[in-house]
Amino acid sequence: MSAQPRSATDRGWEAVIGLEIHVQLSTRTKMFCGCELSFGDPPNTHVCPVCLGHPGVLPVTNEKAIEYATRVALALNCSIAERTIFHRKNYFYPDLPKAYQISQYDLPIGIGGHLDVELDDGSNMRVGITRVHMEEDAGKLVHAGGASGRIDGADYSLVDFNRGGTPLVEIVTEPDISTPDQARSFLTQLRSLVEQLGVSDVNMEEGSLRCDANVSVRKPGDPLGTKTELKNMNSFRFLHRGLEAEIERQIDSLEFGERIAQATVHFDPATGTVSSLRSKEEAHDYRYFPEPDLPPIELDEAYVGKVRQTLPELPAARKERLAGQYGLAPKDAGSLSSNKRLGDYFEALAAATGDARTSANWVLGDFSAYLNAACIDVTQSAVSVTALAELLGLVADGTLSGKMAKEVFEAMTTSGKDAKTIVAEKGLGQISDAGELEGIIARLVAANPGPAEEFRQGREKVLGFFVGQVMKETKGQANPAMVNELLRKYLA
Ligand SMILES: [Zn+2]
Repeated sequence: MSAQPRSATDRGWEAVIGLEIHVQLSTRTKMFCGCELSFGDPPNTHVCPVCLGHPGVLPVTNEKAIEYATRVALALNCSIAERTIFHRKNYFYPDLPKAYQISQYDLPIGIGGHLDVELDDGSNMRVGITRVHMEEDAGKLVHAGGASGRIDGADYSLVDFNRGGTPLVEIVTEPDISTPDQARSFLTQLRSLVEQLGVSDVNMEEGSLRCDANVSVRKPGDPLGTKTELKNMNSFRFLHRGLEAEIERQIDSLEFGERIAQATVHFDPATGTVSSLRSKEEAHDYRYFPEPDLPPIELDEAYVGKVRQTLPELPAARKERLAGQYGLAPKDAGSLSSNKRLGDYFEALAAATGDARTSANWVLGDFSAYLNAACIDVTQSAVSVTALAELLGLVADGTLSGKMAKEVFEAMTTSGKDAKTIVAEKGLGQISDAGELEGIIARLVAANPGPAEEFRQGREKVLGFFVGQVMKETKGQANPAMVNELLRKYLA
């Protein structure tokens, strides 16, 4: 185990980080042909001459993909290009049968945007979005015969072209990020934004959201240092750890008097170390030129306006609305807005109970804890909005104490039964029957004349003694607020 790396700032350095995020769009078909998108189907069953790059075939642009990319660019506050074109990016690799990728170069669909990100300490930072562009995904290589599944050590490699031609949107940020924590916050919130746009399933493990990071370090005030590119961080945790390790490696090298070579580097989560893969290509290595087989795309104001109208309420706007409409703390409003389905659940619950504050506490507390522990999504919850509303109703009318409600909730998650059934089965229910409580109080006071007299002479503390006795008598099921009130009345 290596020691926790010290931050760049602690060592008198500053890291400069820019992110490139690839998002697979969830259109029905591929970017330039009619093959259906698939995940997990047998290899090479979703292919055709176009996406296999046979000679003489012609690509046709997927209109839905343009719409989705426009949505992403608009949600990131980009200017939308009135006229945008595709370029060929030439390089040779076995997962790319045409030996070029159709991408965008100097006329991307969106430029000059930003995303405001809430950091862990509650402060906000604005991360500039340099560009949003469209391209097609490559196929997938499977390295077999080796232990690690990586190319080094493999006996042979197989290629699956099902993924080849999947529409991608690439989002490139300005180098505005300076710590691994900020990078993680940005990516988390970007992911939630894209998910809410309904254009991708943003599943990092399955590769529908992939993140590369450009990293350099410098002494504060110095010009930018040489950057390296960390490839394919497929979880928030890897991104964070990979950045920490790469920043540390660069500072170590520079302090040792070495120079940083511009390279693509790979982070190995198993060892926590970074290794250099290959020297990084410059743009001119790709010999970009306009794709001659595809016409330019004109996105006029009317089109952009129409797409803008399809945008859902975005997380930042929802956060503001939830805070205002329901009087929630900014942090709670933020948590409920970052997950669309959780936010929807909360709003439905608040409407059903009429008590937003309590609803938010339950959704962010016990309900979220249950989802996390079970590793499930809101839609898979065993407790519906109606069922939870009924439980909260039992707390509101005094049938259950807060503590009992937690117990009932847990039983609801495992049994799928409703609150009233569980209360009846467990004989839970608070005793809120004044007559029954008064009878118990009368008996207890008669049995304890000494303390009763002390209370009448002004020793308030004695009330606690009687409350304790009533609770003992009722096995904790008496409604405490009622017991207090009745005791005072009776003793006076
Ligand atoms: Zn195809």
